[in-house]
Amino acid sequence: MTDYLQGMLTGQPALPPQGENAVLFWREKGEGILELIPRTPRQPGSLIISAGIHGNETAPIEILNQLVTEILGGECVVAQRLLVIFGNPAAIRQGVRFVDYDMNRLFSGYRDKLPPCDESQRAAQLEQAVSEFRGQDPAQSVCWHLDLHTAIRGSLYPKFGLLPASPRPRNASFIDWLGRAGLEALVFHQAPGGTFSHFTCHTLAAESCTLELGKALPFGCNALADFDCARQALRARIGGDTETPATPDTPPRHFRVVRQLTRTGADFHLHMSDTTPNFTWFPPGTILSEEGGRSERVLHPEGERVLFPNPRVAYGQRAGLMLEEEL
Ligand SMILES: [Zn+2]
Repeated sequence: MTDYLQGMLTGQPALPPQGENAVLFWREKGEGILELIPRTPRQPGSLIISAGIHGNETAPIEILNQLVTEILGGECVVAQRLLVIFGNPAAIRQGVRFVDYDMNRLFSGYRDKLPPCDESQRAAQLEQAVSEFRGQDPAQSVCWHLDLHTAIRGSLYPKFGLLPASPRPRNASFIDWLGRAGLEALVFHQAPGGTFSHFTCHTLAAESCTLELGKALPFGCNALADFDCARQALRARIGGDTETPATPDTPPRHFRVVRQLTRTGADFHLHMSDTTPNFTWFPPGTILSEEGGRSERVLHPEGERVLFPNPRVAYGQRAGLMLEEEL
């Protein structure tokens, strides 16, 4: 049994940097970046699956490693070109979210304003790896990027997806798959950002999503059964959509980001606590935050919901996103 993750964590590689078996070729394009190309692809297109962009989000890392073991052991068929990425090996080894800086803010040139650090170098390496992978698709056909995460805080919808602002219309089969993977809510960004999924969506014209699959726990403590639906859907997508889970009875709710709450100085006050769950609803007129004598209020007549509220961010950083539901 090949345990790719264990090899990466211990520095004793579980497989040679490149090789082949009866059904596929593999090549390691860098630490934690593994390309898997079927000898006879069943379908065109490319698939990128990443986990561990935040090093302490263990469940998706374990799920992805399990899939790699199944693929190399011949138990999971690869139907199309696949690139597997363990995002931040240094942080994964230390069991921390990041070593120097949150890597999911450092893509698409957002790192240029910061002094170079571990994460900015790794983000550049990942951008290069996915661009090469996409460029080597002979047909330049559809590319999906699924970036797997777990959230830090509680959430009224524990499993949800964040879709980058895209210049292209929404892709129905991609949205359908996200529902089958067990996501209960989909959040559509309206503005660019420094996330990995934004980079692949814009630069590679991929269908991209950041999947938040539940709460993060240490390695070995995750109830992987909670992630069965996502794992099954990933396995099905890798295998060419042969055994995709059924469409859920309740489709995911759709939300649009309407604005960002930003802390600009010391007297910023967010009118919600650290433990306010994601998607908490506030009625019209509610004061959300105050700073310098000005307040931000809920403007949408149907009310608004908050995502990632955090009053203690650095100046100039996001203290929360406000959402309105697409009905
Ligand atoms: Zn994350």
